Amino acid sequence: MDLGVGGVGVGADVEARSWAPAARVRGMGTSIFTEMTELARTTGAINLGQGVPELPSPPALLRDVADAVLAGHNQYPPAVGFPALREAVAAHQLRRYGVAYDPVGEVLVTTGATEALAAAVLAFCDPGDEVVAFDPCYDAYAADARLAGATLVPVPLALDGDHFALDADALRAALSPRTRVLILNTPHNPTGKVFTPAELAEVADVCRTYDLTVITDEVYEHLVYEDGVRHLAVAALPGMRERTVVVSSAGKTFNTTGWKIGWVCGPAPLVAAVGAAKQFLTYASGTPYQVALARALGSVEEWAAGLRGTLRAHRDLLGTGLAAAGLRPFRADAGYFVQADVRPAGYGNGVDFCRELPGRVGVVAIPTSAFYVGSDAPTWLVRFSFCKEASVLEEAVRRLAALAR
Ligand SMILES: *Cc1c(COP(=O)(O)O)cnc(C)c1O
Repeated sequence: MDLGVGGVGVGADVEARSWAPAARVRGMGTSIFTEMTELARTTGAINLGQGVPELPSPPALLRDVADAVLAGHNQYPPAVGFPALREAVAAHQLRRYGVAYDPVGEVLVTTGATEALAAAVLAFCDPGDEVVAFDPCYDAYAADARLAGATLVPVPLALDGDHFALDADALRAALSPRTRVLILNTPHNPTGKVFTPAELAEVADVCRTYDLTVITDEVYEHLVYEDGVRHLAVAALPGMRERTVVVSSAGKTFNTTGWKIGWVCGPAPLVAAVGAAKQFLTYASGTPYQVALARALGSVEEWAAGLRGTLRAHRDLLGTGLAAAGLRPFRADAGYFVQADVRPAGYGNGVDFCRELPGRVGVVAIPTSAFYVGSDAPTWLVRFSFCKEASVLEEAVRRLAALAR
């Protein structure tokens, strides 16, 4: 390949090589997300495609970060995380889910849930192994499997009226002798599904029977809006603590997604393996944030109750607006997103709908099919995010109403 850098002293043997990205990253990063974000930018449309929260954080937490910086907490923290944060995470898991973890050895602070997931998959999977995850799913899962030389085997969630449900037969059918890991995301992105106690019991049964290691992604653990719907930790079920690493993060709970502070809880040997990978990804990060979050996590329930109230109202505002626009919104009990069926608006395909929506009414959304690894995506579903300011959602709803005219 001619890179146009002739005369810079590149050796002939190097020049003769044709550079290409390694297979493990080839094709990554070019997606409908890039296209839709660009559409939002060029058309000035309201971006309900991305899940970046535009909501405030606890003022005391922000002050504590500033104080921690000024107090000199600016060097590497311990690789496993600031001790007070590990203690706060362990206390949080015990208080909320009744599962005890030793802050020394069973809790690891990471650079967001993103690094925790990557380090866990790298720690548990050899090349050729298989990871099962429910489809649709967060985009990092398939990428992490690929970085590890493993393959993500998608298990489609069943569509049941206005919501998604576990298909336990599909889960069993997806397993093979190479299946090492199950990634369970509840509350679930993008669907807003909270796995029910019966579904979790089924999943746990499969994991025990087939001796699977479980990575749970619980970053939306505090953002459940429906009365009578509760987030349950699969690690609390019989025989599950010893095979499960729990992943969570401060990003979605405190509207601090730019801080990238996450954590892992699990039995010591599993956490040690995750830590072995993690230390060579980032070693450690975010000292002042860790210091401040140690305090905030102790009273997270108070904060989260208020945030849930806000997000519940935003979900309802968006859901009502989508219905008024002639779409069919799905149930979203948790998280940041509502899916809507675009067929009632005359579209058979969510990709076409999303490409036309900015020009037609000035709103950007993402086709839910973008979150499917497997081929059974319902092509007519579209994801809208409601983690925005009320005024932004109100304007989006006003614009969407034009679809019904
Ligand atoms: C946002 C998100 C993450 C990433 O969390 P960070 O702490 O920002 O790295 C992981 N999983 C899901 C399902 C998410 O929505």
